[in-house]
Amino acid sequence: MDEDEGLGWAMEDFYTYSLDDAYTNEIPKCPECKKKMKLDDIDADFKGCQDNYWVCPHCGKYSARQKIRYGKLVRQTIFSDDKVVSDKGFHISKK
Ligand SMILES: [Zn+2]
Repeated sequence: MDEDEGLGWAMEDFYTYSLDDAYTNEIPKCPECKKKMKLDDIDADFKGCQDNYWVCPHCGKYSARQKIRYGKLVRQTIFSDDKVVSDKGFHISKK
């Protein structure tokens, strides 16, 4: 009777996403700890067109959002709480 709800599950199931789902090799680094962040959530229209959300597993203070469009990283923003600490756009070369 208690296994029909996905919600309690999702809270514990923190490592649902694999790095393969991120569609980038660029892993944001915490500006303070200098450690790689952990993929926390993905908000996708469809695969390869999505926002990746990362958090620093060490301090928990910094997080990052990556915009992936058509399988390419186009923008990476790092936040401390709600404040933007860095915002970087990536140029996509046209072929
Ligand atoms: Zn950190």
